[in-house]
Amino acid sequence: MSSNPNNEQKRIRSIRGKLQSMISLRRLGGAISGSLGLFLLIPLVWAVYNEINICGSIVLSNRHFFSLPGNINTLAYSIVEPSGTVVFTANASLIVYMAVGIAGCNLVLSVLGTLFSIPSEQAKINKILTPIDALAARADEISNFEFNEDKYQLLENAISKIEPEDNKEILLHDAELQGIETAMNNLIGKMKENYRQQARFVNDASHELRTPIAVIEGYANMLARWGREDEKVLDESITAIQNEAHNMKHLVEQLLFLARGDAGRTELKLETVDITKLMQEIYEESLMIDEDHPYKVKLSETPVTVSADPGLLKQAVRILVDNAAKYTAPGDEIILGAGSSAGRPYLMVQDAGIGMKEADVQHMFDRFYRADEARTREGTGLGLSIAKWIVEKHKGSFTVISRTDLGTRICINL
Ligand code: ATP
Ligand code: MG
Repeated sequence: MSSNPNNEQKRIRSIRGKLQSMISLRRLGGAISGSLGLFLLIPLVWAVYNEINICGSIVLSNRHFFSLPGNINTLAYSIVEPSGTVVFTANASLIVYMAVGIAGCNLVLSVLGTLFSIPSEQAKINKILTPIDALAARADEISNFEFNEDKYQLLENAISKIEPEDNKEILLHDAELQGIETAMNNLIGKMKENYRQQARFVNDASHELRTPIAVIEGYANMLARWGREDEKVLDESITAIQNEAHNMKHLVEQLLFLARGDAGRTELKLETVDITKLMQEIYEESLMIDEDHPYKVKLSETPVTVSADPGLLKQAVRILVDNAAKYTAPGDEIILGAGSSAGRPYLMVQDAGIGMKEADVQHMFDRFYRADEARTREGTGLGLSIAKWIVEKHKGSFTVISRTDLGTRICINL
């Protein structure tokens, strides 16, 4: 499609003209029909008034008519009974002159009003069309833009200099390429952030794996030296190696889950799930697994169904329940809930545990994040990242309320 210079702007100017004439014509039409209405209404009111005055009401069986025996000054209005008796007759020319005068004045005033309002209407149209003007100007600019060999070279040079580690932005020094420059810098910014996250993740994962490996190595060396003879060293080493192997297995499983998720290899198997039933199951399992805390369950009386992967959704809730148990002193209550609030299904886990500071709440879903107060308990800081991945895959969100030493309530909203 070829486009002349300022083509779009010309088109907008013509739209503006068409809008103005459309509005003026519509107002003019209104003035004419209003005046015509007035012209007909005045004699009608006069005729009705006379009939009610004489007959007491409007008698439909009477004949009502205007007649013009001579010129307009002889215009007569008559009411005649069915028997032929003339009930009323009067000269109507004065009332018609009056109607013409009033309707004419109305027409003149309306036309003048329309003419005087043109400048203010034009200003209104201009205001409404300002963003479209800007769009038209941009469209003209784009259609006149020539992407020649020099610009291609400039872009190629800038792209070839991008390094994942440095923070410099691309500068093309070309006003016509400003839009492309901004879009590229935004894209590169996102890619670099992604790269940094990946690098941090690998770094944290190696660090976390190094500790259990070092512990296992230490106990294995101790076993090799003294374990054969010393039964105490033997027992201690076996228990420590078992614990560390268990921790490492848990960590590797978490890492695998996230890696598979990032690579898009975890597929949701969606089913219709009643979340009150799902929470009831988790409640019964928690009673069996954890004897240290009294559990309570608050469920909606009617089923609340969502489309979800029941296995993954259960895993996300289990992560919240495990945290509640881990960060709550034995004997303190944990409440599980499921229902629907303002039409939105939710799953809730509430504890009366150590709680979190506002700054920790901001980061609790970050990979490997652990609050200082949590470090006395075992953990890797990956549980909530997994729960977040699962909930986001279900297009859900979290709400968290937490107060230090009072407790935490986390809701999954679906
Ligand atoms: P793991 O990966 O083994 O679950 P974790 O429990 O430390 O380890 P997350 O479940 O991801 O890791 O939780 C991240 C951090 O959020 C925790 O270390 C803790 O500081 C805080 N947190 C999470 N849930 C609670 C809770 N119910 N009460 C207090 N702090 C919590
Ligand atoms: Mg956890």
